[in-house]
Amino acid sequence: MTGTILGCIADDFTGATDLAGLLARSGVRISLRIGIPQSPPTDTSPFEVIALKSRTAPVADAVAEARAALVWLQAAGAQRFFWKYCSTFDSTPEGNIGPVAEALMAELGCDQTIYCPAFPENKRTVFMGNLFVGQQPLSESPMKDHPLTPMRDSNLMRLLEPQVKRSVGLIDRLSVARGPETVRNALSDHKANDVAHVVIDAVADADLEVIAHACRDLPLITGGSALTMPLPALYLADGLLAADAPKTAKPTVAQETIVLSGSCSAMTNAQVAAYRATGAPSYKLDPLTLAETGQSPVLTWLAAQDLTQAPLIYATADPASVTAAQQALGATDIGALIEDTLANCAIAARDAGARRIIVAGGETSGAVTKALGVAQLDIGAEIAPGVPWIFCTSDGHQMALALKSGNFGDEDFFSAAPVILDTQ
Ligand code: ADP
Repeated sequence: MTGTILGCIADDFTGATDLAGLLARSGVRISLRIGIPQSPPTDTSPFEVIALKSRTAPVADAVAEARAALVWLQAAGAQRFFWKYCSTFDSTPEGNIGPVAEALMAELGCDQTIYCPAFPENKRTVFMGNLFVGQQPLSESPMKDHPLTPMRDSNLMRLLEPQVKRSVGLIDRLSVARGPETVRNALSDHKANDVAHVVIDAVADADLEVIAHACRDLPLITGGSALTMPLPALYLADGLLAADAPKTAKPTVAQETIVLSGSCSAMTNAQVAAYRATGAPSYKLDPLTLAETGQSPVLTWLAAQDLTQAPLIYATADPASVTAAQQALGATDIGALIEDTLANCAIAARDAGARRIIVAGGETSGAVTKALGVAQLDIGAEIAPGVPWIFCTSDGHQMALALKSGNFGDEDFFSAAPVILDTQ
């Protein structure tokens, strides 16, 4: 068992895979656990990531889960911790980003932490404490209309203040541009003024390197996934991470594949169309037919497929079709109906020999991993930014999963993913 150097707690599942994928760029083994592990740490890695489902949970629940995750990570040997939330700081005034940070700080006995959700590669930047999505302030971006966490203010200090008990401050880009020493001094100045929560600007990967350099020994860092990217190399230089630390997993996984698509995002629609155009066998799950006939037609179709051809089963549809189906089926929970069907297809495909499962859709991915009984995952090569191959066992079989949320990946994602698994 390898002692854990950094213990990460992520507030949702695809955010955790995003974080784990970026850390895995270092080549070091990353373990991802879905939910708080029920048994004491075994088979641990230098970087452990625990995926919670707490982004919109009430504060008390999110705090309790984060505390339990911390206890497990401490038992794994971690002395440094990362609290990962969305790069668009998804939360409400009753949100739990600040309360979880304060609870973790109290447990760790530390009186200061930093907040940096910037992810420049994905066009999320922070300048003068304001979060931008591309060229738009957060509050003018599509995030202003998010169904669960509408973001109507772009200023991170104003967003954080109602969530925390202690003072909030800023280290701006002008200081970050001067390097790690200036950032460290600014943190000390804030500490002298009893500022516990420090937002830090970053507009480019080089800024994240400066911040990681300055803050790598804080007991707790909080932010988006990108801030962790420089940490493995820094830990290596500090002698914390051994040069012969366990490497990224690369098990041999049989070719048989199933592609399951439950996302209706614009990019997933394009990916399904591009994959069908390659001539790959495909089956369209129509919600109205499904509600009438049940799952047996799709399971019968699946049983007749050659899984080396990587067949596709998709419910993916354009917005007009989704609305029409929702109106026709009224109170029926179409989402749950489709998720349940695709999860059963995953089990049937596994039992028929599929060892690679490619899934499109965040909720759909959650339903599939739950059905496969997956608890621990090793992170492998990245297919697209934020979407790594992940390895696990299911019913005793070595499996590889590619779990893609909505708009991630290029149009050729379904064809490109197996190539990356075989070549990297
Ligand atoms: P994304 O990552 O794009 O948000 P999700 O899997 O999280 O994808 O969510 C998509 C939701 O839409 C799922 O609950 C899925 O079952 C549902 N869905 C998929 N196809 C259809 C459809 N044709 N009509 C209505 N709902 C659908």
